[in-house]
Amino acid sequence: MALYSYLLLWMGTFLGVQLSAFEPGTPHALIFGWLYGINALFYLMIRSGCSERLKDPSLTFLQMATGILATTAILYFSRELRGAMLSIYFMVMTFGVFALDRRGLMLMALFTLTCFTGLQVFELSTSPHSVVFSYLIGHWIILALGLCWFIYVGGYIHNLQTRVRDQRESLREAHERLSAIAIRDELTGLYNRRHFLERLDEEMSLAERNGSALHLAIIDLDHFKQVNDQYGHAAGDEVLCRFSNLASQGLRRSDLLARYGGEEFVVLFPHASKQACMAAMERLRDAFASQDFGFSGAMQTSFSAGLAAYQKGESAESFTHRADTALYEAKAAGRNRIHLTGE
Ligand code: GH3
Ligand code: MG
Ligand code: MG
Repeated sequence: MALYSYLLLWMGTFLGVQLSAFEPGTPHALIFGWLYGINALFYLMIRSGCSERLKDPSLTFLQMATGILATTAILYFSRELRGAMLSIYFMVMTFGVFALDRRGLMLMALFTLTCFTGLQVFELSTSPHSVVFSYLIGHWIILALGLCWFIYVGGYIHNLQTRVRDQRESLREAHERLSAIAIRDELTGLYNRRHFLERLDEEMSLAERNGSALHLAIIDLDHFKQVNDQYGHAAGDEVLCRFSNLASQGLRRSDLLARYGGEEFVVLFPHASKQACMAAMERLRDAFASQDFGFSGAMQTSFSAGLAAYQKGESAESFTHRADTALYEAKAAGRNRIHLTGE
């Protein structure tokens, strides 16, 4: 934006010189060369990350200050166009509206007014005869009033922008929260069935591509209905949560644990051998069996599980069905055990 703005201003100044509206000796190449040089330096500072350490990393203050200094230099050569050229100051101030708060805008306005007053004082002291006093006062008042307006409206726009940014931030947070909720089971905090099925597809394609091992265990708590019937639904919930905690702590981070529904859970083991999966499941079975529950010391908790190894080319339905069949076999064989499907 600065690049284009200065180019436009340069063209305007050049035209002004050609039409004799500016001093014939206006050193426009020098002024704009300096401006572009300094802006190239700012660009390098921003791109290299140097400016990150500063309080104003976008260098808005410095960029505006150089713009205002260059405008003051152009105004010095502007002759009768002085009044019209004052609007260039406001062009520079517009940049601040997007980045500065009201205090920052006030500081920039004060800097602008100081530069312009300095220019007028300089002209008064060097060539008092060429100064038209009414113009001098008129220009100063118009600039001061315009800057006041900028502080007021600019501050308002800045507040509006801050509010929009805050709203966008809270929307983003809400979206993140919602996404997290959408993939989690409310009671246990584990991944839900939908998320598990999505990840199952991904892991199956990976195993297909890399030829790596992938195992799936379906777990069903034994005689869980009795827990509910004897000790109540809250006690049942406690058992479900305890199992979930045990399983989350006992499994590796790369294993995917989810609540499949009711008192059924699934674990997906990528890159693990059959023996390693069996060992992990046995550890979990031991840990769950030795749990004490406050509502009943005598109650023995256990689960049955079916484990299946992914076979190249098979569908998710076939994979889960085979694990389910193994679970059924474990139940039929007397529960509290883990059954592995035949290859
Ligand atoms: P089996 O050993 O054959 O698996 O017997 P089971 O009693 O565990 O199996 P069944 O499918 O008959 O009972 C499952 C029970 O799980 C029934 C249902 O009320 C209970 N259940 C499902 N979801 C929840 C839940 O979120 N909280 C509680 N407390 N109970 C639940
Ligand atoms: Mg069940
Ligand atoms: Mg059950």
